[in-house]
Amino acid sequence: MEAQPELPSTEVDTEMEVEDDQIPPSNSKDPPPILRLDQSVVNRIAAGEVIQRPVSAVKELVENSLDAGSTSISVVVKDGGLKLIQVSDDGHGIRKEDMPILCERHTTSKLSKFEDLQSIKSMGFRGEALASMTYVGHVTVTTITTGQLHGYRATYRDGVMEDEPKACAAVKGTQIMIENLFYNMAARRKTLQNSADDYPKIVDLISRFAIHHTDVSFSCRKHGAARADVHSVATPSRLDAIRSVYGVSVARNLVKIDVSDNDPSNSVFEMDGFISNANYIAKKITMVLFINDRLVDCGALKRAIEIVYGATLPKASKPFVYMSITLPPEHVDVNVHPTKREVSLLNQEVIIEKIQSVVELKLRSSNESRIFQEQTMDPSSSSPLATNQDSQKDPSKSVIKSQKTPVHKMIRTDSLDPAGRLHAYLQIKPSNNTERSSCLTSVRSSIRQRRNPKETADLTSIQELINEIDSTCHSGLLDTVRGCTYIGMADDVFALLQHNTHLYLANVINLSKELMYQQVLRRFAHFNAIQLSEPAPLSELLMLALKEEDVAADDNENDDLKEKIADMNTSLLKQKAEMLEEYFSIYIDSNGNLSRLPVILDQYTPDMDRVPEFVLCLGNDIDWEDEKNCFQSISAALANFYAMHTPLLPNPSGDGSQFYKKGTSSSSINGQGNDTTEDEYENDLLSEAENAWAQREWSIQHVLFPSLRLFFKPPNAMATNGTFVQVASLEKLYRIFERC
Ligand code: ADP
Ligand code: MG
Repeated sequence: MEAQPELPSTEVDTEMEVEDDQIPPSNSKDPPPILRLDQSVVNRIAAGEVIQRPVSAVKELVENSLDAGSTSISVVVKDGGLKLIQVSDDGHGIRKEDMPILCERHTTSKLSKFEDLQSIKSMGFRGEALASMTYVGHVTVTTITTGQLHGYRATYRDGVMEDEPKACAAVKGTQIMIENLFYNMAARRKTLQNSADDYPKIVDLISRFAIHHTDVSFSCRKHGAARADVHSVATPSRLDAIRSVYGVSVARNLVKIDVSDNDPSNSVFEMDGFISNANYIAKKITMVLFINDRLVDCGALKRAIEIVYGATLPKASKPFVYMSITLPPEHVDVNVHPTKREVSLLNQEVIIEKIQSVVELKLRSSNESRIFQEQTMDPSSSSPLATNQDSQKDPSKSVIKSQKTPVHKMIRTDSLDPAGRLHAYLQIKPSNNTERSSCLTSVRSSIRQRRNPKETADLTSIQELINEIDSTCHSGLLDTVRGCTYIGMADDVFALLQHNTHLYLANVINLSKELMYQQVLRRFAHFNAIQLSEPAPLSELLMLALKEEDVAADDNENDDLKEKIADMNTSLLKQKAEMLEEYFSIYIDSNGNLSRLPVILDQYTPDMDRVPEFVLCLGNDIDWEDEKNCFQSISAALANFYAMHTPLLPNPSGDGSQFYKKGTSSSSINGQGNDTTEDEYENDLLSEAENAWAQREWSIQHVLFPSLRLFFKPPNAMATNGTFVQVASLEKLYRIFERC
């Protein structure tokens, strides 16, 4: 901790002596004495939590200005905020008589009793921010209230006003200046000085405020700079605000989105915002989220949106998202975090799911129109190929679109997409590429494909496999999958789903395996990669798998044989490495180490315990001779590996809990000992298992089902092989309940 205990203050002198006497020798087992920290240390530690970096101070100050009803807020920063942060506003100002206690801890004008928290609308309420700043920096406040002839200025240290407020000239509102932030926290100052300064973070923060509070004008600049880095003027149009802050290239690629629900038994909220379309390409997601006008983070919502983008627009999978959510104030717990940055919501899961599905719908429809244009563009493709791996086309919509867009205005004229100009040369694969982020890469790979006739042939076999999926798709199940709601896991294998008035049990292992298989084919040769933290030698993986295979058999005896098999398979896979890498993103280096695996569904990594089995399967079960069989069997092996199998450790929340009791075999002997205490469990193993199962359940809900809805073509076989079982029809159940 940065705060060096500066204990020698007067009131603790006696305690200090006691402490000196009793300092235990280092090898003593006596517990060290507990001492009361000096108040100034306590305050500084607490302050360091509220004000973690310069940008957190700026956030607090700007929120205060907003709370004061300002219409114009300007921020000036020197040295990343360490030398100076100055925030000026034109709000209601601070009364002179309040100035003496302004910077004491827990002094606020926004909250007087606990119940007020339930309906708090202001951003601040703890009365902690200004106080904190005075413990870690030098604070000067200049302020004037309406009707006053002049303003007042006062400086503060450690929560205390240093002198009587001095009369001074002032313009409407308040100006707060913090100098030498963290001057008394050497370690933090040093880390901050060494890292990139906070100025870009501050610019980012003000940009976010500016696009939400469109009735306030913001500016942010470096001290001494003539130009502001953020400069917004109040405007009634959100899109204009975004354009002026984030630029035309962002604003022109946004679509409006909104959704609301007003069902008290379910969720009550309104959301509106803007999300980027397929043309918006960025390296990182930008997620600007306001909940009840409070700038917050919500990791779960962010992930949920990323999944939808990854699934729908893999090439534009890092979106720009602005969302403003309003809920009844009593549904938001703002008090979960000292910086009020993370909030928790009533019915969070339901709200996230609703938002996720409108985003999905929006993207799917914008994606469809895009796909269509690409197809019309491509004169060489005679059949309407599945140009985008993820598109679920609706021909009727395409026709409508086709009438809107005159042929001569289609992609060839799209300056954003130079690759489009090569369309005429391309056969099948290039149309897969049109959404590519980097135009140059896209052009390069298109050219490579033209030079390499083999590639086209490969794709014919892949195309055949994809056609097989399409032609054996069960339309009834397709409706069910697209329209179902995931209710929960009924047991380790079956999920409970509702579709219209029917309840189904669905086998998630079968479903995920088939989905992975279909996705491998659709992403063929276009995978992103998962990098293993350490390259894994194939020979060891193979030995592991071989040993696992016959645990029952006598050990050692066959080890020689196993080693031979492992060696043979290793050299076989090394031979195939180039192909495995190019088409499946399975990377095997020249030393026979596995170091990369493909991303088949975004946000999902397979269970690494299953790598050995997968490698063995690659070595043993692939038909390398026939191209189509080869691709099919590799895809199937990957699918089996990535499927959402039950974790190898038994489910600790079910019967599996027995497994984690210490000395399970003997515990039955000392019979009645039913009052198990925690100590009797293998805690590490238990928590590992709990993690694995929780992770799997999360993936099933947030990755598997959303992806199934988007991409899955359920094969006919699934209607009869027990993958889907209808368990009840709600109409019948209602009838039964009516009789009761
Ligand atoms: P909180 O915002 O939680 O109330 P702060 O420490 O941030 O606590 O601010 C303490 C009080 O100072 C606020 O309640 C408000 O009355 C006053 N205040 C702070 N900044 C401003 C400002 N820019 N304009 C007017 N009043 C302010
Ligand atoms: Mg505040």
